[in-house]
Amino acid sequence: MPVQITCGCGTKLDIPDHLIGKPVQCPGCGSVQTVPAMAPPTPIPVMVNPGYAYGAQPQPGKGKAIAGLVLGIVGLLAWLIACGGLIISIVGLVLSAISLKNPAARGMAIAGLVLNIIGLVLSIINAALGAYLGATGQLNFGQ
Ligand SMILES: [Zn+2]
Repeated sequence: MPVQITCGCGTKLDIPDHLIGKPVQCPGCGSVQTVPAMAPPTPIPVMVNPGYAYGAQPQPGKGKAIAGLVLGIVGLLAWLIACGGLIISIVGLVLSAISLKNPAARGMAIAGLVLNIIGLVLSIINAALGAYLGATGQLNFGQ
């Protein structure tokens, strides 16, 4: 909000916000006065998108975390193909584990780790179930 000050010559000056704390010239007598800062300057809110705070350039080491996360998601879908899901989840797990050391990528690495562990467990269950059903002759592939 604007601040009103009275100059030595009696002229009342309405000082807009952006001039608070800066020297202003009195239109009445021409003397330069520094406007007292009545309140601490309002911090300008800066909209920062964490992912793009430093431009579109990804932070070093985040690539592995992203890859781990993507593999985790793929692994969740690919677990139906027992062998494929297993490999995807193991690779994703390794990439996510490596990324844990990078503080900038930690959140993503943890998410990737969790997804890959779930994918891995599902793959193992699926593979074990397939092997069990195959061994006991319950799996006949529609024949
Ligand atoms: Zn004045």
